[in-house]
Amino acid sequence: MNIVVCIKQVPDTEEVRINPKTNNLDREGVRSIMNPYDKNALEEGIRLKEQHGGTITVMSMGPPQAEDVLREALAMGADEAILLSDRAFAGADTFSTTYVLAEAIKNLNGGFDLILCGKHAVDADTGQVGPGLAERLGIAQITFVEGVEIEGKVRAKRKVEEGFEIVESGMPVLLTVTEKINQPRYPKPVDIMKAARKKLTIWNAETLGIAQENAGQAGSPTVVGRLFTPQPKGKAEMFEGEPEEVCERLLAKLKSEKVI
Ligand SMILES: Cc1cc2nc3c(=O)[nH]c(=O)nc-3n(C[C@H](O)[C@H](O)[C@H](O)COP(=O)(O)OP(=O)(O)OC[C@H]3O[C@@H](n4cnc5c(N)ncnc54)[C@H](O)[C@@H]3O)c2cc1C
Repeated sequence: MNIVVCIKQVPDTEEVRINPKTNNLDREGVRSIMNPYDKNALEEGIRLKEQHGGTITVMSMGPPQAEDVLREALAMGADEAILLSDRAFAGADTFSTTYVLAEAIKNLNGGFDLILCGKHAVDADTGQVGPGLAERLGIAQITFVEGVEIEGKVRAKRKVEEGFEIVESGMPVLLTVTEKINQPRYPKPVDIMKAARKKLTIWNAETLGIAQENAGQAGSPTVVGRLFTPQPKGKAEMFEGEPEEVCERLLAKLKSEKVI
């Protein structure tokens, strides 16, 4: 089974800043990490490989420093890592991100059976890349997956508002996973050392035959017009005292404001 895991390098969410001039994330001097849900996606890929055999290819579109998250993925248990990096890929929205990822996945020698993504990236947070990628590749998708088994078919337990759905699909299929699916493993020091020495594959626009106007900002129809933090409405009021007394005053206040 050929498993592909899509991994995004994101700023540590505790430190996210927005550049007010460009409306983009300000990554300067900010620590970068593997998108946490992508760690769950990789862990699930490793678990399925342990059960059914196969290979895991991890893929990230990003600047050269995205190599760090790919090496971390190799240390966790991925077999191959591909960095999709080119100045032409910079400033991509989800439309052109899925285009580059889809072209790269189509370019894989052994094809693919299962693609795993996180449910969303903790920086731009659209949750569109997994579904968009499945559309680009013309394959089935199951989103918000919290459990998966493969017995001929892929059977996934997906979270919906009222509970869960059990969805079956043949392969190839793309799954987006939540943090509930597993507990990602910590790589062993010896595997971190091996991963540091492993050669990464780097593909650029030319390798993939992608025209500059279809990638990055040039290929992105979305423009972020303005980003702002909404001002809180009304005045904040702090109740202090014993818990019971605070609860009573809060309840009275909520009733008087007709909130409840
Ligand atoms: C402030 C801000 C607002 C933005 N708003 C929009 C917007 O409204 N619409 C829009 O189209 N774009 C927007 N973007 C651009 C957005 O950052 C990119 O489109 C981004 O490449 C992917 O979107 P995402 O981070 O939301 O990924 P998501 O769709 O949330 O990611 C889901 C999963 O897809 C995979 N994945 C995502 N990106 C990559 C990657 N580069 N390499 C490998 N796997 C990946 C991972 O498995 C990830 O868990 C915005 C950017 C910023 C900074």
